[in-house]
Amino acid sequence: MTPPDAEAPADRCVAVAVPAPILEPLAYRVPPECPVPRAGCRVRVPLGNREVTGLVLGPTAAPEGVALKPVAGVVDPPERPVLPPDLLETLRFLLDYYVAPPGDAVRAALPAAVTERPRAPTEIWVAPAPGARAAFEEGALVRAPAQRKALETALAQGPLPQAELARRSGVSAAAVAALVRRGLLVAEERDKEPPPAPAAGFPTTPPPRLTPAQRAAGARVAELIDGGRYAALVLFGVTGSGKTEVFLRAAEHALSRGRSVLYLVPEIGLTPQLAHALRQRFGDGVVVLHSGMPARRRHEAWEDVRTGRVRVVVGARSALFAPLASLGLIVVDEEHDAGYKQEESPRYHARDLALVRARAAGAVAILGSATPSMEAWWLVRTGRAELVELPERVGEGALPAVELVDMREEFAETGEERALSRRLAAALRETLYRGEQAIVLLNRRGYTRVLLCRACGEAVGCRHCSIPMTWHRDGERLRCHYCGYARARPESCPSCGSIHLADLGSGTQRAEEEVAAALPGARVARLDRDAARSPRRLAAILGGFARGEIDVLVGTQMIAKGHHFPKVTLVGVLSADASLRLPDFRAAERTFQLVTQVAGRAGRGDRPGRVIVQAFRPDHPALTAAAAQDYRSFAARELPGREMLRYPPAAALANVIVRDPSPARAFERAETLARHIREAGAPRVAVLGPTAAPLARLRGEHRVQLLVRARRRRRLSAALREALFRFLGPRRSMPRWLVIDVDPQQLL
Ligand code: ADP
Ligand code: ZN
Ligand code: ZN
Repeated sequence: MTPPDAEAPADRCVAVAVPAPILEPLAYRVPPECPVPRAGCRVRVPLGNREVTGLVLGPTAAPEGVALKPVAGVVDPPERPVLPPDLLETLRFLLDYYVAPPGDAVRAALPAAVTERPRAPTEIWVAPAPGARAAFEEGALVRAPAQRKALETALAQGPLPQAELARRSGVSAAAVAALVRRGLLVAEERDKEPPPAPAAGFPTTPPPRLTPAQRAAGARVAELIDGGRYAALVLFGVTGSGKTEVFLRAAEHALSRGRSVLYLVPEIGLTPQLAHALRQRFGDGVVVLHSGMPARRRHEAWEDVRTGRVRVVVGARSALFAPLASLGLIVVDEEHDAGYKQEESPRYHARDLALVRARAAGAVAILGSATPSMEAWWLVRTGRAELVELPERVGEGALPAVELVDMREEFAETGEERALSRRLAAALRETLYRGEQAIVLLNRRGYTRVLLCRACGEAVGCRHCSIPMTWHRDGERLRCHYCGYARARPESCPSCGSIHLADLGSGTQRAEEEVAAALPGARVARLDRDAARSPRRLAAILGGFARGEIDVLVGTQMIAKGHHFPKVTLVGVLSADASLRLPDFRAAERTFQLVTQVAGRAGRGDRPGRVIVQAFRPDHPALTAAAAQDYRSFAARELPGREMLRYPPAAALANVIVRDPSPARAFERAETLARHIREAGAPRVAVLGPTAAPLARLRGEHRVQLLVRARRRRRLSAALREALFRFLGPRRSMPRWLVIDVDPQQLL
């Protein structure tokens, strides 16, 4: 271990994010023989009795009277940071706003940044300049055939090392150099890397002719990209309106201006069609980042992005931290999706951080959805984002007709507890008779929902959590959906010993069974997290359905996401109002989104679609608005409600959970923390609680909740930070029993 020595001069100290649960970066001094590394460089530093790789966040003042430990070594050349400045700024915002330990952010966001690899030497790369294509098409350089040939190759294949372009086009290096002088190619120093494989040439399937609405949207986006400044757009387009095509054109436009592109999707495994379209459009210049990627491949992709070999990145929320240089466009596809929220530390929201990064990069951010989140709508309403609309489906396709079925009446008339109404069963038969396909959504996996004792009224619950367990027919076990605990079905009630146990409610397994029973001979399959355990299984189910090998697909919200199956003409939604009964201020919004999105899967081909929504309360405004596919009327009701009750997005909210095996200690700690937050935030920050969290016990620990609320978001996180520092004292290490969730997506 290096002994700490004398105080360092003020300008030779750096703040370093280290992989440890400490709430602040640590200060180190830079030894005199070493140049001061810039923010965004990786360094080796002593931590306890280890040496670790950390990320320099910037210079810092030397704390008085404290002898700092020295930086042990630099990983990156001190003047060449590994991260672009806009990404660093985004990380700083994340640490501050979400009250996250720097180490968590660095580790979760930059898996590759902590691994080391020596830098490659550099070489000169060339790429077509903006306007080069137009010049080529107008017949430029007809008198200089070698240059024209080289330009043609560059246009077809994208950025290449200078020498490689000369070789591939069979011309001299001088011809390529002349193009650079003419300003038709731009040259740039990059790390030496193997050049990309030759592209197959211009795309084989020509992109479709844009609809007028798509053209207008695209023109506006292009205009903003050309402006070269930060702008935020909400692209509100009904399902099937062709939002993807607008995103692809915007991406092409950004690339043609020498800017790179980040394309975020909620879940990469659910969008194989998109990855395919992007590869077709951008060939080798795109990487798809996904969680199933082996670490090595991930690191390579990260390096490809960092060195500029790849200029388009597609991926789920963590792709937000891709080290793209000169970022010009960020697309957040299906921005309303809960998948953008990271539910472990650092608990960030990728949609919100996308705006932060776009601002730092001077880029355009587009938030796209058929059902914009209240947060996105609020941005529009408060003038912080511009609204662009695609009000109609592409082609002839009209939005499907939606019918609501009242399950109270169904029960009164049949006297049976069935998942499937008679109307839906008949519609399924008709659909299959016509050789078409159907989707049935039930957002609850398992077979039955609860096993209830008829004698004492207790549901069979999890040993470790305060929730009932779900019966799964496959595997014949009761399972806890929160902690995964599984047990055999008890013969008698664990509370009172009665043998009268009743199966109540339905999950996807039972729905699948009922659908199959109603449709003898039909090919019925299920899509939920149990059926699609691996990305391979998921791809197999989606592929089988796309190829027509499955007639009816029964599943959870996984089937509601961006898929495009032209032969689906019927969508059924079971227990559409189940999610309305959750203790969450977003219950109505979630229900509206889910029903609208899944309804949007119907009739995307040339035949009209039909949607049947079953509910016990079909008159709930969220359901009637979804049935009318009327987002505006839903938002017009929902947003004022949030304002009145001071819920997000009209106010800032944080969910603080203290967990402990002892409920008394959890309450005591929460009480102390609440006092600190009240003091730090007075008078603008309100604290509700402590109370037992709705999910009062999880994995054997008791959970006590504080809800912290303020008008302004920055004030809320500043108060939380300060309170936490007071609570923790000088050590500032984040206790593992504490969860701070700023802008929570669920309040359980
Ligand atoms: P959204 O994401 O808005 O629900 P998609 O982007 O999936 O809609 O587009 C729906 C379908 O329409 C896709 O198959 C897409 O290829 C097709 N499409 C998009 N734009 C056009 C167009 N201008 N002409 C013809 N087909 C189009
Ligand atoms: Zn009992
Ligand atoms: Zn459990």
